[in-house]
Amino acid sequence: MRFSKIAVSVLSIAFLSSCSKVELNPKDLLLDIDAAANAANQASNAEYVPNEMLVKFKMGTTQSARAKVVGLLNASIKEHIHTAAMKRFGDDQGVLLLKINENALDGISKAKAFGEIEYAEPNWVYHHDAISNDTYFNNGSLWGMTGAYGSGASTAWINSTGSSSVYIGIIDEGYMYTHEDLAANAGVNPGEYAGNGIDDDGNGLVDDFFGWDFVGNNNTVFDGGGDDHGTHVAGTIGGVGGNGKGVAGIVWNVKFMNAKFLGSKGGTTGNAVKAVDYFTDLKKRHGLNFVATNNSWGGGGFSQTLESAIERANEANILFIAAAGNSSLNCETSNCYPAEYPNANIISVASITSTGAMSSFSNFGITTIDIGAPGSSIWSTVPSKSGASSSYANYNGTSMATPHVTGAAALYASKNPGVSALAIKNAILNSAITTPSLKGKCITNGRLNVSGF
Ligand code: CA
Repeated sequence: MRFSKIAVSVLSIAFLSSCSKVELNPKDLLLDIDAAANAANQASNAEYVPNEMLVKFKMGTTQSARAKVVGLLNASIKEHIHTAAMKRFGDDQGVLLLKINENALDGISKAKAFGEIEYAEPNWVYHHDAISNDTYFNNGSLWGMTGAYGSGASTAWINSTGSSSVYIGIIDEGYMYTHEDLAANAGVNPGEYAGNGIDDDGNGLVDDFFGWDFVGNNNTVFDGGGDDHGTHVAGTIGGVGGNGKGVAGIVWNVKFMNAKFLGSKGGTTGNAVKAVDYFTDLKKRHGLNFVATNNSWGGGGFSQTLESAIERANEANILFIAAAGNSSLNCETSNCYPAEYPNANIISVASITSTGAMSSFSNFGITTIDIGAPGSSIWSTVPSKSGASSSYANYNGTSMATPHVTGAAALYASKNPGVSALAIKNAILNSAITTPSLKGKCITNGRLNVSGF
């Protein structure tokens, strides 16, 4: 779909040059470096870590050759990101996160001179895509499930309310897995004995039982009241229904695991890549049926490192469901990453209100955004401010629209065991209801409708 886009700006060229290949040749590599630098320059308000850059060396580059180039760049290695998923997919280099003494964009343009370097790019900063909360407006109405412009979930529940054999990865803040409306759906890593201090399953992470915190680099994915956004997302996907408490998600039965990479200052490309790869590896390592990750966040510019991680998820049959963003932007001409990456496994989601209008804050794009879903005035689960008890709150954002679609993927997968990621995506997009406010604003011209699932 996005492949049909005509290049209308430097950003679009970056996009086309990045999606037209899997195997890189040296000519492409130069283009890639240019594209990343151009994308960075174009995206003048896109946020990145000022004195860091991500550098990928070409296959087969020796450690001493890498060290020499790093020295010549006056850089130091902050982290060597070489995930289990990268190794699994035959990547012998991983990606270096370099600390430099100059602006990232200057460092990236210097990196161009080195033939050993495949690409260099900023370490972008991403933020979650919720824009407000109103805990005082306590009407409890779940219009996203039951309303005239809702998802149709309450009709689908007659036939199915999900399955505990379907796994969803929450790539976000932490989530409160002890919440009264989520605890029954908290999934765990079957390869780990919690708290024994040993990396039992050999994935490089010790005691990653409910998931992993890539911000704090530890196994406590839930760190208190600040993890409200991740908890809210979880409740819309799979808040336990029919228990007489709180809310109900699109599915009532599902298993969550959590890759926390958003902290109080947002998250970076380096950690986003590790989060995406975490689920890709977990699926292959333990045969867990991960069908999708929920990605209610965005920012920055094009990143080859992140796009490659999303592609590894695609090859592992995991959908990457992404928020369009909350800047009222047209994604055809503005940056909407990660929503606008061309990978086949992405479903990108705009937001609508309970009266079927597109939410005023929602980004949109006729070839870049797939579908609309409820995102204004959405009630879901949150921790209390102290983090000690279960609570509920009303949030707005494409962050809230996205988990309705992720829940839809879980619902479809639960009714159609063994179905491919692409088949789930097609089912979701083909069942969209054409909606006037979304005409010309997204690929389906319509909104989420799971009533026939
Ligand atoms: Ca482990």
